[in-house]
Amino acid sequence: MLSRQGRPTIPDAAAPDAASAAEHHTFTGNRALQQIEPLLFEIGSTERCGVDLDEPAPFTARLGGLEAAAPVDLPALSEPETMRHFVRLSQKNYGIDTGMFPLGSCTMKHNPRLNERMARLPGFADVHPLQPVATVQGALAVMDQLAHWLLTLTGMPAVALSPKAGAHGELLGLMAIKAAIAARGEGKTRDVVLVPESAHGTNPATAALLGFRVKSVPARADGAVHLDDVAGLLGPDVAAIMLTNPNTCGLFEPQIVEIAAALHAAGGYFYCDGANFNAIVGKVRPGDLGVDAMHINLHKTFSTPHGGGGPGAGPVVLSERLAPFAPVPFVRKGADGQLALVEQAGEGSAAQAFGRLTAFHGQMGMYVRALSFMLSHGGEGLRQASEDAVLNANYVRASLADLLTAPFGDRPCMHEALFDDAWLKDTGVTTLDIAKALIDEGFHPMTVYFPLVVHGAMLIEPTESESKVSLDLFIAAMRDLAMAAKRGDVARFTGAPRHAPLRRLDETRAARQPVLRWTRPLPVA
Ligand SMILES: *Cc1c(COP(=O)(O)O)cnc(C)c1O
Repeated sequence: MLSRQGRPTIPDAAAPDAASAAEHHTFTGNRALQQIEPLLFEIGSTERCGVDLDEPAPFTARLGGLEAAAPVDLPALSEPETMRHFVRLSQKNYGIDTGMFPLGSCTMKHNPRLNERMARLPGFADVHPLQPVATVQGALAVMDQLAHWLLTLTGMPAVALSPKAGAHGELLGLMAIKAAIAARGEGKTRDVVLVPESAHGTNPATAALLGFRVKSVPARADGAVHLDDVAGLLGPDVAAIMLTNPNTCGLFEPQIVEIAAALHAAGGYFYCDGANFNAIVGKVRPGDLGVDAMHINLHKTFSTPHGGGGPGAGPVVLSERLAPFAPVPFVRKGADGQLALVEQAGEGSAAQAFGRLTAFHGQMGMYVRALSFMLSHGGEGLRQASEDAVLNANYVRASLADLLTAPFGDRPCMHEALFDDAWLKDTGVTTLDIAKALIDEGFHPMTVYFPLVVHGAMLIEPTESESKVSLDLFIAAMRDLAMAAKRGDVARFTGAPRHAPLRRLDETRAARQPVLRWTRPLPVA
């Protein structure tokens, strides 16, 4: 085990983990070729320098006494030390390029390398948001074509491209709804947003952030949102419903059309959380369901990379009623065939735009990758991707059905298979234990404890990327874990993961009290 100073220390024999740690003890703390990586500050030293710099020529300071009085305390490293540090860090990333990543709701699908090649073309990679419009016609054409595909696939009349994530898209959609309601003179009275209990946490958070009051639509035993429950909450105070379809239980909402109609009749708007659009592309057009606004996570449905805080993109398609309130900027084709950017809210076609959501135009690199995915698949290919995603999820569901329990019975699912923890009753093993033991097996765990309406939920989304061979391996690993839990092999689970460099972390404390600043350790007395 390495100390904070990067020097080996003797493991503490009294530590609670000692027995299992000793089993795998190494002098360095490394586990085979998985190496512990200290901070740059712990490797480097301010006392040395990674490069040879000439002494500066004598000069007169002209900073009026504001020059730094003490060294800035940056660690200095040699080139190989620097190289190793960053390469080792990069190897700690488990990603879809490393192995299966069945994280439900997140859609970790393969990002074809063709997308990367397209995004790296200098004309796209080096484009600057402040370039004169005449010099970026190609980039605007990509945005225009991407918009065309999104509108065609959703059957909607307008799209706003700028949001940088699904949650950001939710914000755009609800801001447009707020603006539309204010324009009707109902800004003071329509302030309720209905959100089903199974919704992603970003839905109620978005509504609350904009000052709406959130009312919960109760969960039903069949995992669906029921018209009766929604109708009971409708009134002149309801601004919108935020409904996910297919929902977070992996089911297509059977009454979605009736719910949309009831909402419209009561004067409200239908915001659809479209994060699961990847299950229905080419099969269902959300515009035909009565949707007024829906975000599309390009980083889920159209394969652009995500996770680890990387950029996403969450364009929002809008109905006729909401389109006038879409924010600037947007692309317009002029009479001369040239593409232009409408940049000012309140002018011309942007007369009712609610303003601007982002400084510039959104995630250009993601637009290129998503359009590359669309053009290389074609309409038929996109439909097949959805069909294969659904097929793969059902294959996993059916292959585990005899060992695990599913909250909604044996019904087919859409793109993700949902299990609960009823099958773990009296085993002493929990959903979390299963997830941690999967890490030992070399898999990123599935989504756990979400949706909240299902006890001990395990949400598995294989996506269309996985071959039958890789699905079979995952299924076999899951079956092995399930059988171990059922025969009482609790030891396999407590303390898992055993083969990861770090074991069970205090994730809550890491999130609530993150240590973001390195402080120099006190000199050893
Ligand atoms: C991923 C997801 C979101 C949020 O999207 P981000 O791009 O992560 O902000 C919202 N709702 C559902 C159902 C999701 O799966």
